[in-house]
Amino acid sequence: MPLESTVTENYRKVRENVRRACERAGRDPAEVTLIAVSKTKPVSMMEELLPEGVVDFGENKPQELKEKYELLPKDLRFHMIGHLQRNKVKYVVGRACMIHSVDSLRLAQAIQEEAQKRGILVPVLAEVNIAGEESKFGLSPEETPDLVQEISRFPNLRVQGLMTIAPFVENPEENRVHFRNLYKLFIDIKERNIDNVSMCILSMGMTNDYEIAIEEGATMVRVGTGIFGERDYNKETSGEDVL
Ligand SMILES: *Cc1c(COP(=O)(O)O)cnc(C)c1O
Repeated sequence: MPLESTVTENYRKVRENVRRACERAGRDPAEVTLIAVSKTKPVSMMEELLPEGVVDFGENKPQELKEKYELLPKDLRFHMIGHLQRNKVKYVVGRACMIHSVDSLRLAQAIQEEAQKRGILVPVLAEVNIAGEESKFGLSPEETPDLVQEISRFPNLRVQGLMTIAPFVENPEENRVHFRNLYKLFIDIKERNIDNVSMCILSMGMTNDYEIAIEEGATMVRVGTGIFGERDYNKETSGEDVL
C-alpha cells in the first residue's frame, strides 16, 4: 500500500469535515470551494495535493504568488487573499484567478488599470472587517454597498462577492454571529441587483472556524494550517505584505 503524506491525510480530513458541515446545513458540497492556503509553504507540498484533484490555492503575498504561479501547472487557480498594495498589483493581475482583498477604491482603480493594459477581466471580492476590529484591513459593513457600487463602474473588474477574516477566538462558535452578519450584508447587496456585480461568492472561514462558516453560508473556505500544518513565522516577517 502506498504511504500517504501527512498533507494528503490532512486534506482528506478537511474535505470530509466540509462534506459533513454541508450535510448539517442541508447544502450541496459542490457549492463550497475549499481553498488550500499555501502561503509560506514550498511548492513541493502543494504538488503533493495535485493527485487529490486540488486546484485552488491561496496566497497572501504578491511575489510569492507570482513565483509559485510560474513553477506550477497553469491550470491551477491562485487566490490572492492577503492585503494588496497598489504597487504590487502588477504581480497578481493575470496570475490570480480572483483577488479576495479589495478594500478601497484606489486599489480597485489600480487593478482596473493593470487589467485594462492586459485586456483581461479580474474577478474580485470586497473585503469586509465584519467584527470592526481595529487591527484588521477591510471595509466597514456600512461603507461596503457603496464601494461595490463604485467598483461596478470599472469595466475590467467583476465584483463577485464578499470576503472576511473573522477574529481569532478560542471558541469558533463566537464567530458565528460575524458570519451571519456577513451573510446578511451579502444578501442586502445581492438584492440591489447592481449591473456588472454578481454576488455569488462568500469567502469566509479558516482552519479554526470553517465548519461554522459553512453552516452560515460560506461558498469559499480558506484553510492553511489544517492542511499544511503550522507555519514557521521566523521565515517570514509578518502576516502582511512586506516583501
Ligand atoms: C493565512 C490565511 C488563511 C488561512 O489561515 P489558517 O488559520 O492557517 O487556516 C485564510 N485567510 C487569509 C486571508 C489568510 O491570510
